[in-house]
Amino acid sequence: MTTKKGILVSPNLSLVAEDALVVAGENVDVDVHCIRLPVDPEARLAAEDVEKIDLAFFSQDIPRGYGRSFFSAVRRAPNIRWMHAFNAGTDHPLFAELLAKGIRISISTGLTAVPIAQTAITGLLMFARGFPHFLDAQRRHSWEPQIGARQPQDLEHQTLCIVGLGGIGSELARLALGLGMNVIGIRRSPQRGEDPVDEMYPPHALAEVLPRCQWLALTCPLTEETRGLIDRDKLYSLPRGAHVINVARGEIVDEAALIEALNSGHLAGAYLDVFEKEPLPEASPLWDMPNVILSPHNSAASSANERHMFGLFLDNFEKWLADEPIRNEIKPAS
Ligand code: NDP
Repeated sequence: MTTKKGILVSPNLSLVAEDALVVAGENVDVDVHCIRLPVDPEARLAAEDVEKIDLAFFSQDIPRGYGRSFFSAVRRAPNIRWMHAFNAGTDHPLFAELLAKGIRISISTGLTAVPIAQTAITGLLMFARGFPHFLDAQRRHSWEPQIGARQPQDLEHQTLCIVGLGGIGSELARLALGLGMNVIGIRRSPQRGEDPVDEMYPPHALAEVLPRCQWLALTCPLTEETRGLIDRDKLYSLPRGAHVINVARGEIVDEAALIEALNSGHLAGAYLDVFEKEPLPEASPLWDMPNVILSPHNSAASSANERHMFGLFLDNFEKWLADEPIRNEIKPAS
């Protein structure tokens, strides 16, 4: 007997994508139908449609105005069993709520590792090669070569510590090794042969390695263990003139302590894509600090992301239909 599966999707899901989901169902004798959110983001899905939702695909275009409508449908759906999300982080507030109700969640970790690592290494190279100074001089039409004592320090043999050697961290490590840097990885699981690092340590060793790191990059998830991990003591245990790169989550760093360490001259600079409060408040001193480069939580942006994310969801959907383990499933915190 043919079974039916209803998938809650964005109003903008392409017909090609819908077709691929229907075909995946047909292959295993399942009648798949996509339940689109109402086009008006203020409208709510009708109760009879909400009842037909078995799973939900929280795709990247949904937050642009449709977040509330999507989450309202997910919360009201009595038969929903699984939601796949475009998010790479595990810290979305809805996830814990759905997991507590026994709904499975999978995310899109790893798909944006390449653009994020490229953005992080751009921040690193901009500081290493003196671009904050060049850009400032350019705006003033001033010819100011960096010579003598102001010449950039060679990156070769400088040490980069990467906290969270997963998808993003490993890609960043690979790029840094290519620049001749010494790379230290930090994570809970032990080193594997393919890890692109010179040294690897567990999180409790972080304070011990920081004094020899000219660069600290954060690429770990925001969890109860990592919230506030980079506090004032850790920032000041970096050598004077060190730089911080955060492409993970703002709450991992004590932002007030970071601002103070940058203002005091202990830290030479920071590239920040993420902040304790987003959007970054207009009054934040970070906007105007000459030793800060910031981007609006945008380091992952890349034209291929949506295609890759749908590819992962489709693959997971086929696995889910076949009752096989799905990729990137997150588990409730124990
Ligand atoms: P991965 O899961 O591939 O990597 C995360 C790594 O962090 C794992 O190797 C994990 O290893 C490690 N880790 C977990 N807990 C700790 C800890 N307490 N101390 C040190 N390491 C730890 O995720 P991604 O690389 O794809 O993404 C990482 C984070 O980056 C995401 O969680 C998200 O918050 C953020 N992100 C930011 C984006 C942006 O736009 N700026 C976009 C995408 C992601 P182990 O479990 O062995 O410790």
